[in-house]
Amino acid sequence: MSYQVLARKWRPRTFEDMVGQEHVLQALIHALESQRLHHAYLFTGTRGVGKTTIGRLLARCLNCETGVTPNPCGECSSCQEIQEGRFVDLIEIDAASRTGVDDMRELTDNVQYAPTRGRYKVYLIDEVHMLTNQSFNAFLKTLEEPPEHVKFLLATTDPQKLPVTVLSRCLQFNLKRMTPEHIAGHLRHVLGAEEIPFEEPALWLLARAADGSMRDALSLTDQAIAFGNQKLSASDVSNMLGTIDQRDIERIVNALVEGDGPALLAEISRISDFAPDYSVILADLLSLFHRVTMEQVVPGSADNALGDAEQVQALARKLSAEDAQLFYQSALIGRKDLTITPDARMGFEMTLLRMLAFRPGADRREPPAISSGGQSAASEPRDEPDPAPTPQVEQKQPEPEPESTPEPEPEMPAAPPVADEDASWLASLDAQAEAAGEYEESYPLSDEAPVTEEPATAVAAEPVEQAAPAPEPAFVEPDPAIEPAVEQAPEPEGEFVWHRDFRSLGIVGMPGNLASHGAMSRDGDVITLTIDEGHARLLNSRHEEKILAALRNCFGDSIQLRTEQGNPGPDTPAAYEERQRKARQEAAEASIRRDPVVKSIVERFEARVVEDSIRPAETSRR
Ligand SMILES: [Zn+2]
Repeated sequence: MSYQVLARKWRPRTFEDMVGQEHVLQALIHALESQRLHHAYLFTGTRGVGKTTIGRLLARCLNCETGVTPNPCGECSSCQEIQEGRFVDLIEIDAASRTGVDDMRELTDNVQYAPTRGRYKVYLIDEVHMLTNQSFNAFLKTLEEPPEHVKFLLATTDPQKLPVTVLSRCLQFNLKRMTPEHIAGHLRHVLGAEEIPFEEPALWLLARAADGSMRDALSLTDQAIAFGNQKLSASDVSNMLGTIDQRDIERIVNALVEGDGPALLAEISRISDFAPDYSVILADLLSLFHRVTMEQVVPGSADNALGDAEQVQALARKLSAEDAQLFYQSALIGRKDLTITPDARMGFEMTLLRMLAFRPGADRREPPAISSGGQSAASEPRDEPDPAPTPQVEQKQPEPEPESTPEPEPEMPAAPPVADEDASWLASLDAQAEAAGEYEESYPLSDEAPVTEEPATAVAAEPVEQAAPAPEPAFVEPDPAIEPAVEQAPEPEGEFVWHRDFRSLGIVGMPGNLASHGAMSRDGDVITLTIDEGHARLLNSRHEEKILAALRNCFGDSIQLRTEQGNPGPDTPAAYEERQRKARQEAAEASIRRDPVVKSIVERFEARVVEDSIRPAETSRR
């Protein structure tokens, strides 16, 4: 497994390597240079911002054989042993697991002895707020009058829980949450050094999902690299996280600003393929409209913290202040509605349609003119039109005058145009595809098929570029003859099979991603998920709540959820889906290679099929 590789490999080795905590580092460097050292430091901040990392660095600064220094050499045996976690005079204690008074006594007794190897005995106590009151009392005396050779480095996510007697004896440093900008910048640096191709929007997706934690950002990036086959494309990362990227948000907002109903519905239909967490998308929209308003009221205030400064500035010019307010309010209400709507996509769609229909200045006498402006989309090829949106529009029209008949039905949401020439071309080739007739209308086979214009080598040179337009894959039906082999499922009918039926639970976003890496076992009402270390450590109580809710929905309210870290084996939904995907991909490639039309074109133009560009048609699997 390659998870955590980045987080470990890129753990900062020097203060200069640390990202985003300059205010703290400056003070520490100054103290080290002037040899004015306090005996107890307290580092506070949310998880993954570098509290224990700074502690370990400081331990090296204090014990480097070259002397107390802000620039430890990294080569002496003290530096190396600290780095490898085997330095006898650095005592790391995780208070979350060692809360007994006895442990604390042992520690305080031990404090009296001089360091064995180093200059200072350094106690690094993580999650120090977890100590029991008795432990604190045992600890306090030592903290009050520690021997010269002892330094205490305390870390906590929750300083409010510390007794004031402890707080008052420590020099406190509050570490900042990592901004998405910091995280994206660091990821850019790491991926560049690792020579892993990436798309910029993928970085911002990861940066936002990491929620202020650099460690989580690197772990997620490791997962994304594995998920995307050694590269980071925005669509893969979206898929993995159950979120959508900034370009999708941009398309939604553009459709809103242009009042282009069909484009809006098409966009909703497209992103619904990613099974996103709609509440997160609405939160993204909220944040965007908030920033737009800020920019309108205080021009120049939009920073690039989310990588979208240009978009914010453009929208601030385009949108009226009323529109920005309306969109913000609608998104806010929409998020509340999502919790009670029977179908999340419907709730999301209603929210956007409300934004579109109730914009100030829209003529309230007429039914909302959402069918206008979509001419281009309407003429494009489309797939699986979704009838759901249309009735919703009609129900919520603002008091339609009895005599005013609504406009003719708005055009069905069109699938995004198959923009990639290659893709449409391949799609039109596939005579076996059921949908082929539809595609051929718009993309008749032509002798000037663009196959020769796209040198196959481009794929090798710029893999991410090629993988990027994933939303418009070539539509290739997997060969039905091969499909049965894919469904290796002589599972009993009607019974819930975890890895096979997991998607039917409807757990989306991160909770869904994490749960899909687990194996399930059930004992009475207790369902146990066994999840590998890399995913288990990303799991928090919010995720578990969502997973439990979905399980109860399916198996009844008495279900209890246990999660444990361990080897889940091969029967996880993620592994199962990966096996299916591979089989479908192979089937699709085989069917393309066998296709007589492709064969003849390959021969006639001495062309090559770019296998990476072949995508099996994803048939209603998500
Ligand atoms: Zn050293």
